[in-house]
Amino acid sequence: MTLAEVLRGVRHVLLDFDGPVCALYGGSSDTEVATKLRNLLSGGPLNIPAPIAHTSDPLEVLRYAAVRSYRELSLIEAEFVAQEVHASTTATPTQRAREAITALASSGRTITIVSNNSSDAVIAYLSRIGLAHIVDGVVGRVPRHPELMKPRPDLLQAAIEQRSANAKECVMIGDSASDIAAARAAGTLAIAFVNRPAKTKQLKQEQPDVMIESMGEIELVSQLPIA
Ligand SMILES: [Mg+2]
Repeated sequence: MTLAEVLRGVRHVLLDFDGPVCALYGGSSDTEVATKLRNLLSGGPLNIPAPIAHTSDPLEVLRYAAVRSYRELSLIEAEFVAQEVHASTTATPTQRAREAITALASSGRTITIVSNNSSDAVIAYLSRIGLAHIVDGVVGRVPRHPELMKPRPDLLQAAIEQRSANAKECVMIGDSASDIAAARAAGTLAIAFVNRPAKTKQLKQEQPDVMIESMGEIELVSQLPIA
């Protein structure tokens, strides 16, 4: 399908946050946040499996905390939200994201941010750059339930319900394989935003309806009326 064909019947846009909207850690370091979270795990570094000991992805540390204990999960979730909100103050906007969001809204489509990041961080960023009033809703990670994050469809389903929509009239736009897998599971259309060429193969494997390389493409095509 072409991007125009995908967007034609779409009334509701489910938009991933870190990637299509901004680089959350654009002005800070996800590695540092992962380390801070890891240091909250009990038992010291020898008690942590190698992949978790070396990951630069704080979300992976959160997932791991959930298999350890509820106490550690709660502790890490709270610290993670604080770190994400802090990162949002220096997050860097994705090129043409503002224009794409504005054009989608002007065309009469709703926009719901669907993110594995915390709603607090998403709202803080949108408020900071003056986009909060354009976005219809924010569905972030469910606190202390990392198992519900994308690629599970739960967050998308919550967004679809929030908009009183039908999955068929929704599209998910995301830059990760998990966004596309979640869209497939929820029954929505899927646009893969390939923000780094290295991701092309991985995103293609999830069979999105269309792949784009710039949010500017959304800006141009969303000006066509909804069919
Ligand atoms: Mg992303």
